[in-house]
Amino acid sequence: MQRILVTGGSGLVGQHLKEVLPNAVYLSSKDCDLRDIQQVQSLISNHKPHIVIHLAAKVGGIQDNIKYPAEYFEDNILINTNIAKVCKDLNVERFIGVLSTCIYPAKANTYPMVEEDLFLGPPPQSNFSYGYAKRCLAVQIDAYNQQYGTKYNYLIPCNLYGDYDNLHDINKMHFITALLNKIRTVEGSTLHLLGTGKPLRQFMYAKDLADIIKIVIDKDITESFNVAPDFNFSIDEMATTALKVLGLDYNIKYEQPHLDGQYRKDVSSKKLLSLIPDFKFTSLEKGLKQVYDKISK
Ligand code: NAP
Repeated sequence: MQRILVTGGSGLVGQHLKEVLPNAVYLSSKDCDLRDIQQVQSLISNHKPHIVIHLAAKVGGIQDNIKYPAEYFEDNILINTNIAKVCKDLNVERFIGVLSTCIYPAKANTYPMVEEDLFLGPPPQSNFSYGYAKRCLAVQIDAYNQQYGTKYNYLIPCNLYGDYDNLHDINKMHFITALLNKIRTVEGSTLHLLGTGKPLRQFMYAKDLADIIKIVIDKDITESFNVAPDFNFSIDEMATTALKVLGLDYNIKYEQPHLDGQYRKDVSSKKLLSLIPDFKFTSLEKGLKQVYDKISK
């Protein structure tokens, strides 16, 4: 049997992955601080995995990214460089890195962006150091494949939401969970949201990414590609859909329009669907209902 090691196993994606790949070994930062190369060398020498699925990252909200850009750069560059290098040095057969559409250029000439657009401009200022550090893992993996003939690849998912989001730390909560949590705890009949509601976003239920990772392993897919559903809704459409799915009739009031962030950053799923043609993404309605039920328990 193939030994599979998952970094970031305690996170949102890691916990969804556990449901579809129960026999892998799931790690948190307590098992190994990936910023320390000696710990990473011991980890890989001891476990001797055939496959490493690398989910671990220092992840946070926009405000945290703006306040601590040095930490977002240092931690992510060290985490990624160490784990990929040690896997290559110790001849791990497969390495699947999980990046983020935050690494794409802040502005593109055409949307949705395709994989070839990745290096056509700098990532957005709001998460510049996180985006740059994660983009470097794509460079590192491509370089290893070119120079050493490894079969390593990376997936570039859009914004995620799921059943295991952090409900206790406002800085770590992802947008959809924060939205549903606001709806759940609203006082009166007006839902107050930040920004203008106009920016467009692709949101994916994290189990879909977990399913894709399993398919990549099962079918031995070695290409690198975007993972995002075709739907690209405005924040207002998402909030309205959430209220509709939950049967609630609140007004929505937008405040602090300067907090909008990028207008759009959608990526193409054409390459994904050429590799996995029958893949069906979870609809926003179904995903929203699922997460609402989970956080309301
Ligand atoms: P998450 O919930 O924030 O979990 C992060 C994971 O990384 C945790 O298991 C954490 O361990 C681990 N970690 C952090 N620092 C570490 C270190 N120094 N050494 C070892 N492990 C460390 O992340 P996620 O949302 O599941 O994201 C998984 C991957 O998808 C990340 O690479 C992220 O960039 C990418 N992604 C996420 C989104 C999104 O919207 N969430 C969107 C696109 C891409 P502890 O639990 O011990 O802290």
